[in-house]
Amino acid sequence: MLLILLVWINSLTWMVTSLEQDTSGYVVYCPCMGRFGNQADQFLGALAFAKTLNRTLILPPWVEYRPAYRTSVQVPFDTYFKVASLREYHRVITMETFMKHLAPTVWPPEERFSFCPVARSHSPKTNDCNAKYGNPFGPFWDTFGIDFVKSEIFGPLPYDGQGIHLKKKWDERFPPEKFPVLSFTAPPSSFPVQKIHVGLQKYVKWSNEYEQKAKDFIKTTIVERPYIGIHLRNGIDFKRACDHISDAPRMFASAQCLGYSGEKGKLTKDICFPSDDIVIRNVKKEVKRIKAKVVFVASDNRYLIKEFSAAMKKVKFVKQPSDASPHLDLALLGKADHFIGNCISTFSAFVKRERDANNLSTSFFAFEPKKHDEL
Ligand code: GDP
Ligand code: MN
Repeated sequence: MLLILLVWINSLTWMVTSLEQDTSGYVVYCPCMGRFGNQADQFLGALAFAKTLNRTLILPPWVEYRPAYRTSVQVPFDTYFKVASLREYHRVITMETFMKHLAPTVWPPEERFSFCPVARSHSPKTNDCNAKYGNPFGPFWDTFGIDFVKSEIFGPLPYDGQGIHLKKKWDERFPPEKFPVLSFTAPPSSFPVQKIHVGLQKYVKWSNEYEQKAKDFIKTTIVERPYIGIHLRNGIDFKRACDHISDAPRMFASAQCLGYSGEKGKLTKDICFPSDDIVIRNVKKEVKRIKAKVVFVASDNRYLIKEFSAAMKKVKFVKQPSDASPHLDLALLGKADHFIGNCISTFSAFVKRERDANNLSTSFFAFEPKKHDEL
């Protein structure tokens, strides 16, 4: 009883204190570029940016694209991830909570300015961020009934960079008293994620709901361990993207296997879009190495379950039923005893970062890391 009371008092004080205005200000942005993997890459940089500026980060919903919908769908950040874990790194608040409880006083409608590095071209107004022009831009802000009265084109002020200098520059131009909310048309961070921000993944923890879903799936469908998780990124968009790699030194998430300066190897077409033969061979090798009993397959297109089963008769190959949830796939790949990913994919990169944070192993299709010469 006493414990329950203490927990209750604790959560009450938390609510009261956290819903006080942060006089150091806020950062919010639209995750308006790419799908989940891209948004997650940029989230880590945005989190670091908010910390550097010592402003609370307003956690935007994830922007999703679903076949049956005309516009993007916004899914609250905490559907997938725990807010409390992020607080171990920096002050954050969900956009839903901020808009409901704080925006009416902290960010009244007549003070809603949109921030962009340069004016968005091909949009209705010149010299303007046109923050709500197009999809997902309009639908994102409309989710919260937000309209902007003015644009703040902040370039050449950078958002990349560390430390006190960056904070000083932003504070000089946009002091928190006058600009309590910096509201960006796009993430204030680079894509792909910078090397220095990769480690922030450790503060990104699955919500209880997804943690439970993953545990249930492991118990009922995977059943036996060890299990290997594999990500097959073989949809038509990736095939097309991989046709253009000829002389690019890096592409999307490729730094996760090739290194940030390409020190671990070279980009090849096979790494980007491995053939079925390569995929089967790589899986076979890892199955043998860790004596896997089960392989969990995640894919955006072809799962190759039949082909795998024919090549490895004693191993069980499983996937989610049709209409697979991408986030459950990610959570299951993250928990596997070994993971084989696609080095170019940011979807795979999310898994690799999570696994690195938990000291779990990852390899990539069609890629052997260059061995450093022993000195
Ligand atoms: P990238 O394009 O591979 O770098 O990753 P993104 O996340 O940016 O875009 C790919 C999108 O395709 C994902 O967000 C998912 O919606 C979908 N997708 C890709 N791979 C898988 C998968 O293994 N399982 C599921 N369910 N969806 C996937
Ligand atoms: Mn993508």
